[in-house]
Amino acid sequence: MARWIDGTQIAKTVRDDVAQAVALFARQHGRPPSLHVVLAGDDPASAVYVRNKEKFAAQVGLAGTVHRLPQSVSEEELLTLVRRLNDDPLVDGILVQFPVPPQVRQSEVLRLIDPEKDVDGLHASNVGKLWSGRTGLVPCTPRGCLRLLDEAGVALAGKRAVVVGRSNLVGKPVAALLLARDATVTLVHSKTQDLAARCREAEIVIAAVGRAKLLNRSFIAPGATVIDVGMNRDEVGKLCGDVDFADVEPIAGAITPVPGGVGPMTIAMLLENTLLAAQARSAG
Ligand code: NAP
Repeated sequence: MARWIDGTQIAKTVRDDVAQAVALFARQHGRPPSLHVVLAGDDPASAVYVRNKEKFAAQVGLAGTVHRLPQSVSEEELLTLVRRLNDDPLVDGILVQFPVPPQVRQSEVLRLIDPEKDVDGLHASNVGKLWSGRTGLVPCTPRGCLRLLDEAGVALAGKRAVVVGRSNLVGKPVAALLLARDATVTLVHSKTQDLAARCREAEIVIAAVGRAKLLNRSFIAPGATVIDVGMNRDEVGKLCGDVDFADVEPIAGAITPVPGGVGPMTIAMLLENTLLAAQARSAG
């Protein structure tokens, strides 16, 4: 049976470490680092994500607030808020929760956010830094995946890793991070032929697809490490990943459950990114 990689526990350790570092920053600088979240519109899932971010940010001692804007907000109003946060020296991290209402272009929002405050790591400048090996802010979920692998003691250098999904949010940055750690990385996607065979070649599989239980044991080599980013609902409405956990667990070497795997790491990494942004700004 596969060893479980416990994201809930690892995320708690990260949050405890961040809380200590936040307290130290506050003593040194006379204020804690601050995270400002912009929530535009009434998407129910976004509202839940933002409430959790708010709760954990307060728990580790970060300052900041959630800026709630109506569904009818104009692009200019939202961009004006982002400019104000960019210009405010007391703001360290800015996160605009996506999706934004349809009249607001996500690309314009991402273009405007100060890369030094871009705690989601999605600004083109941070994407470029990630792929060229320079230090920038890295997207939270991909960083969380790498942290889980590290905490589970999975060696990466020289290992064959397959990333299923090529989104800018998860698949591509995970691939960049694995590559930077000397894994041999294959990115597969909806046009890939014989997906199961490509995945079976891997010692490490990262699934970021958004299809409930797509990866069953025919996709996984015995003993492989499986990181499941997916957050889906199964046929009875229960939260599940992209991996068919019950089918894969008996043959994998290590596996993340859903819930309790990658999910808790995403917010923990957001808190850590805010701390890193504050430290970099105060040093620079
Ligand atoms: P996305 O933007 O929809 O991208 C999905 C990717 O999967 C695309 O590259 C797509 O290929 C590929 N794909 C779709 N169907 C496929 C198939 N049948 N076979 C092979 N590849 C297929 O999704 P995302 O934002 O990356 O998110 C992926 C999953 O992770 C979702 O379930 C999401 O809810 C979850 N997620 C979880 C967290 C967390 O904190 N745990 C954070 C972010 C996302 P094409 O490019 O060819 O279309």
